[in-house]
Amino acid sequence: MIGAIHMRAFRKITAILVGKLVIIFSRIMGNQGTDFPGRLARRIYPAILQDLAMNIEKDIIVVTGTNGKTTTTNMIAGIIKENQNSYVHNRAGANMITGITTAFIQASNLSGQRRLDYALLETDEANVPLLLRELNPRILLITNFFRDQLDRYGELDHTINLIKDAVTGKDIELLLNADDPLMSHFQDQTGLHSWYYGFNDTNYDILDPAESREGRFCIVCGEELIYDRYHYAQLGNYHCPKCGNHNPAKQFAGGDLTMDPTIHFQINEMFITSPYQGFYNAYNIVAAVSLAKILDISDEIIREAILKVEPRAGRMERFMIARKPVVLILVKNPTGLNQSLSMLLQDPAEKNVFIALNDNAADGRDISWIWDAEVEVLSNENLGLQSFIGSGQRSGDIAVRAKYAGVPLEKIIIEPSLKYGIQLAVDRPSDRSYILCTYTALFECRKILSEMQKSAPHSLMEESNKRLPDSQE
Ligand SMILES: [Zn+2]
Repeated sequence: MIGAIHMRAFRKITAILVGKLVIIFSRIMGNQGTDFPGRLARRIYPAILQDLAMNIEKDIIVVTGTNGKTTTTNMIAGIIKENQNSYVHNRAGANMITGITTAFIQASNLSGQRRLDYALLETDEANVPLLLRELNPRILLITNFFRDQLDRYGELDHTINLIKDAVTGKDIELLLNADDPLMSHFQDQTGLHSWYYGFNDTNYDILDPAESREGRFCIVCGEELIYDRYHYAQLGNYHCPKCGNHNPAKQFAGGDLTMDPTIHFQINEMFITSPYQGFYNAYNIVAAVSLAKILDISDEIIREAILKVEPRAGRMERFMIARKPVVLILVKNPTGLNQSLSMLLQDPAEKNVFIALNDNAADGRDISWIWDAEVEVLSNENLGLQSFIGSGQRSGDIAVRAKYAGVPLEKIIIEPSLKYGIQLAVDRPSDRSYILCTYTALFECRKILSEMQKSAPHSLMEESNKRLPDSQE
């Protein structure tokens, strides 16, 4: 018996030691090494995650959902940090159970005894049941369930049911999006304590149902839902004409929203200001703030933290135009451009890159910053660049920069018009297209892309496994 206990302790420490060494070694080799160390440690000592999770003194929090989990989790981390709490947090892109194990090993000391206040874990929806087999989180936060082009076999419905089954009977609280009709039934069907967050009416709501194509059917009876208004995509005020299913009551309600373009609004009685932009980020903020309120963190700390948490690599939006994924990214400065280009490098697909450079006051009149950025990434073989389109008021300058970065001349196109430039970026052969632009070109570019997406509806059957990198949500 004593021998067995010793053996267990020995394997645990070996697993931690090996995990830590592999993390260091992977870093030296230049990769993040996020999954492999955890996988190896689990092979040495399968209970490693369960054991290390016992060091969490306060709560384990799991964040899942289709969109926004990385941003939401980063915001929660910002709040927990501001509150002087210690925590373990897995990185975006390492959200399988192996990556989560790596994060725990990294945060642990060699004996595996280091106490931490919180574990803040981001994970894919499909991974939730597996995670709940090993961990006992206090709260599961679900941001939203968006159907994407991959959901041709109703996989999302399957996943929703898996999560519902996995939480049922557990001692867990749910924090859910009241405006997402795909999770309105969680409270009733699981019987668990469920908190709901969402938005009251805002000036940005859309009243035209043509704008939204997803999640329109009642999760309870299958009838088509009636919306009074949409806040963002399928998130909005809905009710079912057949069974009466409707938005659950919100404990945390966003209101008085202003986007100028950064976000200001009220959550219950608390005023919030954030450097983020876009309605989808307002949702991420409500989710993070609601969670912090449940953890009993003070309004001052929450407000201060939300003000400080900055978007990482500029904003990012995805479009699907004639079966090609197109990604719109705002770049404001050399750091932003570097971050965006290095993100492109992580995407192995063949790609067209469009950069619109304007020099209006809001962009900065001086465009010499493009020479400070590592545009050389464009000529990196691994980038898979097919065409480069320089556009905007200073299309020539950005094209010259690309030329000096080593992009072959035959791949470079100068097209000052945003519309024709984007058209080229979409039409020319590639697996996908990246549309980068400075601030004053952003709204025009987004409008062009939205219109193209509408007028070139995608038949999605061939879009098998082309997933975009998920580092930027
Ligand atoms: Zn119904």
